Amino acid sequence: MKTIGLIGGMSWESSLEYYRIINKRVKKELGGLHSAKSILYSVDFENINILQHEGKWDELTTIMIDAAKSLEKAGAELVVICTNTMHKMANEVQHNIKIPLLHIVDATAQSIKSLNIKKIGLLGTKFTMEQDFYKGRLTEKHGLNVVIPNDEDMDLVHKIIYHELCLGNIKDSSKKEYLRIIENMVKNGAEGIILGCTEIPLLIKQEEVKVPIFDTTTIHAESAVIEALKK
Ligand code: GLU
Repeated sequence: MKTIGLIGGMSWESSLEYYRIINKRVKKELGGLHSAKSILYSVDFENINILQHEGKWDELTTIMIDAAKSLEKAGAELVVICTNTMHKMANEVQHNIKIPLLHIVDATAQSIKSLNIKKIGLLGTKFTMEQDFYKGRLTEKHGLNVVIPNDEDMDLVHKIIYHELCLGNIKDSSKKEYLRIIENMVKNGAEGIILGCTEIPLLIKQEEVKVPIFDTTTIHAESAVIEALKK
């Protein structure tokens, strides 16, 4: 089994999920007392959040590269960045390490394409919903047609992520808003919905949505296990 390196803390509410999902999947695959070999590099999210909203992406790129290098030095054999948003600098991170970085978009797109879905709704931070590092990769690399909420709803989705979900605050009123926004994307042709922020699966469950949802936390965490167990 390879050692999985996790860049987490963004937020720790979702890093906990990665840890749980990864260990559960290893137990399912190997049985007995097996658990994942992993190393977690967890950042202080307050600082990351400030830099993101000030648009200081170069500084953030340096922080992510340093984290990945530390994991590599500590013995990690593959790296996962436990947030969709911070895949903005995934290419730069990969260029600075020798071990593979498992990209959250690629793992998610594979799952979407396996259901033969062509038009997909995307929920996440505004950075994720609007910028090319995510949406662009879904369309250009994976040939998917992406639907996003209108501007007002995008602001709401973004605000709920940083002011509630990342603080472990799961509210019924926010669930209602997300379900309304999902319904609108389905009306606009979305055949499935990407929960493209690693905290959204804490709020939205498959049984509440009539089209397939793609929980990026579970998909990404499980893809790390599959890679770690490859012979
Ligand atoms: N965990 C969230 C994501 O998947 C948001 C936190 C962040 O800005 O990294 O995008």
